Amino acid sequence: MSSANVSFRVAILGRPNVGKSTLFNILTRTRNAVVKNQPGVTRDIQAEKADWWGKTFEILDTGGITNRMDDFSPLIMRQVLEALGRVDLIVVVMDGKTGLNPEDKDIIRIAKECGKPFFVVVNKVDREHEAELKKAEFYELGVDLIHTSFEQRVHVDKVVEKILSYIPAEGMKLKEGVRFVIMGKPNVGKSSLANAILGEKRMIVSEVAGTTVDAIEEELQYKDQNLILVDTAGLRRRGKRFSKRDGVEILSAYKTEEAIRRADVILLVVDSTLGPTEQDARMIKMAYDRSKPVILVANKTDLARLQRDKHREWFRERLAFEFHFVEEIPVMFTSAEKHEGINEVLDEILRMAAKLSIKITTSKLNDFFYDAIRSAPAPVFGNTNVKFYYLTQTQQKPPSFIAFANHPEGVSPSYRRFLIKKIQKEWDLSGVPVRMFIMKSGGDSL
Ligand code: GDP
Repeated sequence: MSSANVSFRVAILGRPNVGKSTLFNILTRTRNAVVKNQPGVTRDIQAEKADWWGKTFEILDTGGITNRMDDFSPLIMRQVLEALGRVDLIVVVMDGKTGLNPEDKDIIRIAKECGKPFFVVVNKVDREHEAELKKAEFYELGVDLIHTSFEQRVHVDKVVEKILSYIPAEGMKLKEGVRFVIMGKPNVGKSSLANAILGEKRMIVSEVAGTTVDAIEEELQYKDQNLILVDTAGLRRRGKRFSKRDGVEILSAYKTEEAIRRADVILLVVDSTLGPTEQDARMIKMAYDRSKPVILVANKTDLARLQRDKHREWFRERLAFEFHFVEEIPVMFTSAEKHEGINEVLDEILRMAAKLSIKITTSKLNDFFYDAIRSAPAPVFGNTNVKFYYLTQTQQKPPSFIAFANHPEGVSPSYRRFLIKKIQKEWDLSGVPVRMFIMKSGGDSL
């Protein structure tokens, strides 16, 4: 689904003046980026080829992203978000001298929401013996950190090494298709479902190395489309049952994250005789935090229907009770053992994939937006009403929108959710993650 036939793209992201342009220059060994000691100098997005140790990649300098949107025109912001939609990796640069800044957290949030892999470079750590001290407060971000001093060319090699570790080996271009993963607790029937979907014959598309988690990709054609199972859990490994005894099968958080990142759609398998659990809720939350859609597969219905009457109703009630936050999640009932409900799951994957790629024209959006914002009281900032200007879609997979307003600070998370829900309802996107950014703008309000 992503970047077949194009080179690996890396974006450099960070607040103004943290050293993005310097990194860009070092990596591309050019003088194209303007480096000056003042915030917000590099405004445009630059792209250059970089060539290191026999591997090439394209590097984008996004020219700064910040929450203080008055520093950035909506156009620039939109370009940045669009650019992130097309990259394979994000290098987030932060300033070790000034320390962790609230805007840095926003940037991490944006990087996470993009669903792209990223790591953090804490720059301007000029003295090695101060590194741990300088890095300390950045650990709260809970992400991989590398400390550097670009100015003194310290640890640039580590940054390069890290970037290269994400680039798939030659000839391992991502195959086009809808990628899905199968997740769930042990023993719910993940392997059985994978086998029911793919059949017993092995059709390995690629074994994707590149990062620490290996995945086997297997492909099937369904209704003229390529569906690709990304298997990071060894579901289809011959004699995989070895892992069960020693508990290795319980996916580490890291592996789960990696699986989520690689997938377009997530199948979360639950044992329908037992109902959904808190652990399932956590996996859904992880997926939603990364804007990935989840299809809940209630498996073992052959047992469930023997166990209780109206087992589907029972399951749905349990679901509503346990996961009140996911009322829209699609639920498919299967028996992997008896090959029941398998095509319905595949249909749902295709439906989700199509919805993820929806493209809504700005004029349609704004007709809708005009009515939507009038159907609820305007948010208030200080003692003025927040005025909205317009709404535009920036990205597909997942559908992402920017609403421009005079006071984005006044738009509460609940108002943002209200707008997202309206969009989901209008375009039949239930269960499809929709992202909404609110940006500052002047101009004529709606
Ligand atoms: P995993 O640990 O999630 O990969 O689960 P497995 O696919 O290994 O299945 C665990 C057990 O449940 C095995 O004994 C399967 O045969 C059984 N199983 C899986 N799916 C079904 C189903 O739909 N119905 C029944 N009755 N058993 C199933």
